[in-house]
Amino acid sequence: MAERLVRELRTPYLIDDRQVVITVSIGIASARDKAESASDIVRHADLAMYMAKANGKAGFAIFDPGMHAIIRERHEIAAQLLNAVDLGQLRVMYQPIVSLATGVAEGVEALVRWNHPTRGLITPGDFIEIAEENGAILPIGRWVLAEACRQAREWGTGPGAPFLCVNVSAREIQQPDFVESVERTLTEVGFEARRLSLEITETALLRATPATIRTLESLRELGVRIVIDDFGTGYFSLSHLRQFPVDVLKIASEFVQVGSEDEKSVAVTSAIVALSESLRIVTVAEGIENAEQAEKMRALGCTYGQGYFYSRPLPSDDVQTATTRPATKVVALRGRKARGVRAIPVAPRRVGASVEAQSA
Ligand code: C2E
Ligand code: CA
Repeated sequence: MAERLVRELRTPYLIDDRQVVITVSIGIASARDKAESASDIVRHADLAMYMAKANGKAGFAIFDPGMHAIIRERHEIAAQLLNAVDLGQLRVMYQPIVSLATGVAEGVEALVRWNHPTRGLITPGDFIEIAEENGAILPIGRWVLAEACRQAREWGTGPGAPFLCVNVSAREIQQPDFVESVERTLTEVGFEARRLSLEITETALLRATPATIRTLESLRELGVRIVIDDFGTGYFSLSHLRQFPVDVLKIASEFVQVGSEDEKSVAVTSAIVALSESLRIVTVAEGIENAEQAEKMRALGCTYGQGYFYSRPLPSDDVQTATTRPATKVVALRGRKARGVRAIPVAPRRVGASVEAQSA
């Protein structure tokens, strides 16, 4: 029943021509022994609901006494995140974004990592959402942008230098001074706005207010490109694309990783690519893990690809080494899946040119 409620309520509503999506998270608890009071059970259901939200929202969870410990741990992480920047515990890795036509890496996406003193290296999937909840994402986001721009400046300058994509959360974009803060960072670091793209998820964009749209427009006026991340996972209708100031669209890995026999998914992807092309929006296929997926996305007309097939996220020094080599040399790929993978030449040419030409 919970599954049905979640599914039914997630269906988009059309109100005054605006698509509205509501999701619910359900917590379920039942009396375990007679000693439990009604308020105990309600508290347990509340905790279970919190867990359902923590597990990505729009779902349900059934109370379990072990949840107390998990929630305590989340509170602990939340408190520590507030100091992570000041304590110098964050670092940025960079995953190459490759031209599907030439196999050349023309840009990178910055991905933050948390080097926790006792838990070790924590990936963003385990802390970004908590940081968004308690506001720690604001100092973290500012730090990531400045650090990534500083490092990217070191990889080279001019038209051949790689473009840089940085993820931003809805909460950051909603800050009234977000545009000024980006502009200040670019000036302080001495990084060209045209080399910077900011990625905002489709789900966040769905909740965009007119003020958010104005923010995106102002960023574009600075020369920064706007990327819709994880496209296809929300309920963003294709016809809405026209109304948003968007330069690049990243097709979610769910669509990239399906086999060619899944005709419906291929048809949807093909429609996304075709419409993007007609709107002069550049497409990037996310999560490419093998040659077949790369070829499928290339054949569909997608411009760029990103994924473990090409490279895992690299430390800045490796991007630098790779980008200063001539095009005939190759990057040494790191990580588990690197063996047996086709090495890609990394010589970021025409990056700016190709993205610019299509978004002009
Ligand atoms: P995302 O923006 O969708 O980033 C891509 C994620 O997919 C990265 O995970 C990347 O390592 C992973 N990935 C890349 N290629 C493949 C592949 O071939 N197969 C699979 N299975 N995965 C692949 P990561 O680094 O753990 O980041 C997770 C998410 O955290 C990102 O998802 C992004 O939404 C968020 N994030 C990362 N850095 C930041 C940041 O600085 N600020 C904000 N607001 N969010 C960030
Ligand atoms: Ca991203």
